[in-house]
Amino acid sequence: MVIYHLSTECYPIAKVGGLADVVGALPKYQNKIKGINAKVVMPWYNKPFVYDHEFELVFDGFIHQGSNMLQVQVMKEKSDVLGFELYMVKIPGLLDRDNPYGYQDESFQFLAFQQGILHWMCAMEIKPDILHCHDYHTGLVPFMVKNCPEFQFLKDVKTIGTIHNGEYQGMMSWNMANYMPAFDSYKWGLMDWNGMMNPLASMIKCADAFTTVSEGYLEELFISFRGLESLVRQEFGKAYGIINGIDTEVWNPATDPMLDFNFNHENAVAQKKKNKEKLCKEYGLKPNLPLFAFIGRFATEKGADLLPDVVWKSIKQSYGALNIMILGSGNTYIENKLKEYDYTYTNFAVDLGYKEHLSHKIYASADFLLMPSRVEPCGLNQMYSMRYGTIPVVRYTGGLKDTVEDISTGGAGLNFTYAGVDDIVHAMNRALGIYNQKKVMEDLIHANMNFDFSWEKSAEKYIALYNS
Ligand code: ADP
Repeated sequence: MVIYHLSTECYPIAKVGGLADVVGALPKYQNKIKGINAKVVMPWYNKPFVYDHEFELVFDGFIHQGSNMLQVQVMKEKSDVLGFELYMVKIPGLLDRDNPYGYQDESFQFLAFQQGILHWMCAMEIKPDILHCHDYHTGLVPFMVKNCPEFQFLKDVKTIGTIHNGEYQGMMSWNMANYMPAFDSYKWGLMDWNGMMNPLASMIKCADAFTTVSEGYLEELFISFRGLESLVRQEFGKAYGIINGIDTEVWNPATDPMLDFNFNHENAVAQKKKNKEKLCKEYGLKPNLPLFAFIGRFATEKGADLLPDVVWKSIKQSYGALNIMILGSGNTYIENKLKEYDYTYTNFAVDLGYKEHLSHKIYASADFLLMPSRVEPCGLNQMYSMRYGTIPVVRYTGGLKDTVEDISTGGAGLNFTYAGVDDIVHAMNRALGIYNQKKVMEDLIHANMNFDFSWEKSAEKYIALYNS
């Protein structure tokens, strides 16, 4: 069975969030299953990976976007170093930039990406069994293969759409239809939602099946989905929740080259302490006090707007008996407020930016990881932290509900119900109670490390879905 994963992100080439981690790992694990050949297609970026690896040109052609003729080149990484065939679509002027997102003309970029992929496949007579589309950036592919005469060759190919984050739907004005490959105009409704072209809605309507990255998140989408609730309810017969795994080869505390002190079950407690001491020293924190960490985008869906108040309130209430360290970036108000508190409180440190190495060090060093998410489709941070023996303190929502159970019911983490400052601080107080019981704390470190979040199970679930 040949599967092409279509995505704008893939670790380690280009990562903005969890989408990259999933697309960098899932195909690798699928390829370990007999009879499966999973590949990845992504846009070309000016990233170190593309200069450090050898690529061959496997296709050179043209597509039309409105009256513009665009050159499309498909480059294949020669050695399959990532555990799957990697193809990168280069469209000079549109898909040859530094980053996946943040450009004014992103609608043109993603349209060209999708059209370029399908044009290449048709021209080269590549007919996969499955086209697996990830998020709205490739959400129009199911519509295009079924309804655009230009891609008639792929008409019978089955399509799957995975929603990693339903907050982003890629809505465009209907003017963009002028830049689409030709389609029968009476089919416009398959791309429409409330008078806009909506690629995510179109993916839900047109894909043979669609998935969300946890069961908990799927349930929530029936009730709240930025306007698409009724659509998911309508299409629920082809909806599946499949929880993400983590790449346990990359995220292995025993071998992770990004850690200062590697550790395993036997020496976790002592080695984590050393990691923490080093990190605290670097950031002027106090290694003898518990360390709470937050890693992520400063967006309201992550509850990041609550963090400044959580910082001052928890430090005040505990009389300075804890440390907090935050790694992330995004909303400038939150960034500035946290920077201000960094100067004000000796127990608090923030590092603004995207730093893969530092994130690994924090997962390994912290005692507790905070996730006050309002929306969390799956969440990978809690799984990384658990694998690194760090206790997750999470809001009971989406994928967090599916992966973190509270200690009061036999789990190894802490849950709270509301994304509000008081609830978070209350959960932190519970965490402080645990921290002061040495044996309980050590048992929890080991219990968290013991959880199995490897990809194998979920990779099998996707294959079962493809087969069906
Ligand atoms: P998202 O909604 O952002 O995709 P996920 O929990 O699915 O959330 O994935 C987040 C991923 O991005 C994790 O691998 C996390 O470690 C990483 N990450 C987020 N922010 C940063 C940052 N500032 N520096 C390094 N890694 C980060």
